Amino acid sequence: MVRQIAVLGATGSIGASTLDVIQRHPNRYRPAVLAANRSVDEMERLCRLHAPDHAVMGDPEAAQALAEKLKDQTATEVSSGAAMLDQLVSAPAVDTVVAGIVGFAGLRATLSAAGAGKTILLANKEALVSAGGLFMDAVKRGGAALLPVDSEHNAMHQCLPTDARGRPQMHHVEKIILTASGGPFRGRTRASLTEVTPEEACAHPNWSMGQKISVDSATLANKGLELAEACWLFDRTPDQIDIVVHPQSIVHSMIRYCDGSVLAQLGQPDMRTPIAYCLGWPDRVAAGVAPLDLVSTGRLDFEAPDMTAFPCLALAKRAITQPGGMCVFSAANEVAVAAFLAREIRFTEIDVVIANALEAVTLSEPKSLDAVQTLDKEARSAAAQAVAQIASLNERHEKEQ
Ligand code: NAD
Ligand code: MG
Repeated sequence: MVRQIAVLGATGSIGASTLDVIQRHPNRYRPAVLAANRSVDEMERLCRLHAPDHAVMGDPEAAQALAEKLKDQTATEVSSGAAMLDQLVSAPAVDTVVAGIVGFAGLRATLSAAGAGKTILLANKEALVSAGGLFMDAVKRGGAALLPVDSEHNAMHQCLPTDARGRPQMHHVEKIILTASGGPFRGRTRASLTEVTPEEACAHPNWSMGQKISVDSATLANKGLELAEACWLFDRTPDQIDIVVHPQSIVHSMIRYCDGSVLAQLGQPDMRTPIAYCLGWPDRVAAGVAPLDLVSTGRLDFEAPDMTAFPCLALAKRAITQPGGMCVFSAANEVAVAAFLAREIRFTEIDVVIANALEAVTLSEPKSLDAVQTLDKEARSAAAQAVAQIASLNERHEKEQ
């Protein structure tokens, strides 16, 4: 039986790695649905290559343009909109959903897949972090299998026993050890980071990823999101998880058991490994990744994260303990990162925007999708206000000089 896969975020970095692994196993997997936002040319190329049954664009104009380009390819039906995507990921024709849309935009379709009991390969950590309670309930109610693609959580999953649906069994686990690369600015002081550019922030030393997660890695906001992600996936509190910086990104995370044993998963920093693990689970399939050469790697270093130079991690640790805190953190971070990439604010102002939003919004645990969407909206508007204030202060400052 060929498994029918929906690849959400098909034109992105996770999408490309997923389609690369799928292509290596045409007798096992087929990309039946491809979804993206507005990259029409890349989507056309993917549709000609993979001939999916459906191509869904978030943006209706992009869908129209794609349909025009694919007039000669009758195998693929082009559509647009969140409701359409909900319907397709829940349909019996799809077995597995790869959640690779970036940010809060990915929440709705991922929730639908969970409710419909699909096997979900979760890369879109923002969805889980913003709506953790709701999301985990939907997985349970729908009987979905949830497999983490994020390399650290994938490593944890690999080091734990699981039940038949892939649920991790936590008996005798004392600590989860979440590793962080430290990003491109590891070792720098906060003062030295005020003038760094989006290009420098996106130049990750080990991983090649989309822009948003690259900036998150540079600010360590990504580790904050991943801490919350690990709490939901492995039913832990933040104090049961240690964060360790490991600059080589070879050890992807560890589990310490009560007898002192520490199990680690090692591999190249290449997302095709965790994606292949999730696609193959409980079997294993080839990923096309070069074998790990430990002699040429030479050293594996570990150090404590620098919370002073990178305040986003401390902000996230606090937000995790507040009801709805991570929904606000994640939304404000998305707004701040977009403003940094657009050169409206400085790198060191990203955490200021998040802190402002966490102060401004009245926090409460969102119990429905509507409530999550409302909280997300409030956080975005508070963050946008902070961005506008900072940008106008910066402008005034520049004029005075
Ligand atoms: P990316 O920017 O490369 O790709 C994002 C994808 O999402 C694109 O295909 C884009 O078209 C799609 N998209 C954006 N908004 C959309 C919308 N409204 N509707 C439909 N599609 C939309 O990002 P990425 O690096 O591939 O990351 C994707 C997710 O995976 C993120 O949540 C990220 O945190 C997570 N993740 C990525 C990596 C990595 O190595 N890239 C590793 C771990 C986790
Ligand atoms: Mg990660």
